[in-house]
Formats: sequence, C-alpha cells, structure tokens
Amino acid sequence: MPELPEVETVRRGLQPVMEGARFAKVDVHRGDLRWPLAQDFVKRLHGRTVTGLGRRAKYLLADLSSGDVLMMHLGMSGSFHVFEKRGAAALGRYYHERAKHVTHDHVVFHMSSGAIVTFNDPRRFGSMKIVPRANLDAEPLLRGLGPEPLGNEFDAAMLARACRGKKTSLKAALLDQRVVAGLGNIYVCEALHRALLSPKRMASTIASRSGAPNDRAERLVEAIKRVLTDAIKDGGSSLRDHKLTDGGLGMFQHHFRVYDREGQPCRTAGCGGIVKRIVQNGRSTFFCPTCQK
Ligand SMILES: [Zn+2]
Repeated sequence: MPELPEVETVRRGLQPVMEGARFAKVDVHRGDLRWPLAQDFVKRLHGRTVTGLGRRAKYLLADLSSGDVLMMHLGMSGSFHVFEKRGAAALGRYYHERAKHVTHDHVVFHMSSGAIVTFNDPRRFGSMKIVPRANLDAEPLLRGLGPEPLGNEFDAAMLARACRGKKTSLKAALLDQRVVAGLGNIYVCEALHRALLSPKRMASTIASRSGAPNDRAERLVEAIKRVLTDAIKDGGSSLRDHKLTDGGLGMFQHHFRVYDREGQPCRTAGCGGIVKRIVQNGRSTFFCPTCQK
C-alpha cells in the first residue's frame, strides 16, 4: 500500500499537468472502484479547472473551479501515469509492485494542458469522490483524522497529549489515524528505529502523567518528520528521472534501516544488533532490540 511519501510524490508529479488545466474530457472505463463512482462524476468534472492540488493524509484533493473537490485515494495498488507528447512518465517509484496493464486504466483525464492522466488500479481499492469544498470538514473519510505529521501543528506536546494514559504499544498508537494522519507500517517502523524507541513500549511512556512531553516524545516527532521528509526527497528524485518501473522493488527499500531487514545488521552506528521481526496487531514490526529501548 502506498504510504504518505509516495502519495506526496504523486501529488508533486500531477501538480504541473493538472493545476490550472481544465478537464477537457473524462473517460471512465470502470466505475466500480472501492465505491462506485457517482452517477454525475464525469459531469461534475467536465469543463472544470483544477485550481489547486493538495493532500490530506493519503487523499489527494483537487480543488475545482466549480467549488467542488475531487478526492482521490490510491488504495492498495492504485497509481497515476501521465502521458505527454514526449512519452509516459510514472509518478514515483514504489516499494510494492504494481501492474501497468492498460485494462486496469479505470479513469482517464484528458487535461486541457494536453496531458493525459490515467488512474490504474488492478485491485480496485482506490477511490474517487467529489464533494463540495464547503462540506469537506464534515466529510466522513477525513473527519476525525489527526494532524498532518509534516505540519506545524504536529509536535511533541500534541503527540504526548494524544498518547497520555494510552496502554497500547507505541507502534499501535502511531498507526492510529486519529493520533497522527497518514502514517503506515513502513514509516512507523523506520521512525521508531531512528528515535531508538522500542515499538513494544507502552504509548503512555512518552508523556508525563499530566500529558506533558518527555525527551522520547521530542525524539519521536523529530524522527517521524525526518524519515518522511527524506522519503519524499527520494520520491522527488525518482520524479526527475521520469523512469517507468519494471515492477519489482522500488527505491525506498534501499534506504530502509529496519523495514523488511529481518536478520540483518542494525544500521545504527556502533550498535551491532540484529534486526528482528515480530507481529503486532497482525502486522509485521521490524526493529532492533539492542538499540531500541
Ligand atoms: Zn540497533
């Protein structure tokens, strides 16, 4: 499943061809994505200009000249491709393999910029939905989401408040979208490793009893922001390359310090530990028991 840095990479790739451009034509080959596209989906896009392309958690939000917002989610296997005169460009490279067969091009945007943007999704867990901008705050898919991890609002004080008294593991707390929005399994593992905190540690231990942040909360927030920023930077360089992936494993893998590295040496300088895999809440956790306390 694409994580936040990948979605942000896609946003940055779509921005130059979608912002300021009009939907000249919209083709829907398959409307039964995670939810069926609305009956008026094409009508509400046709002729509208994209005034801005933003992101909230893992949703891309295209603001339209009509006052509507087109919400797009990549789901498990969704990807966007941009076809311009000079050829196709895949937006970002992914850790997970994705199919590129055209039979999975479910939605095709013909932009007035001349670019053709296709949404490809073999498993069809992705989604598109149009909502009035005025109703966005009440939108069930977004309501209740915690702060953006890269936003100013997200800091040690806020994270500590959210974890105060929590008896779940730190890992489970970070995966809780109400605590912080858009973090997934990979970057939670990576952030905990950078912060030298055990994923098994109780969430409440990053806060005092009154909810004030301690040194662990500071380290963790710093690590989350850094790991995401680094990954987005990597994604940006893959955009510049404009290379299509041939399936297989993508670039982020090479920068992982613990994720998917069971049995390999820890990358913390001077640690000498071995990365271990455990299962928490049904999902793999990779960590170093030697330096993550
Ligand atoms: Zn270690």
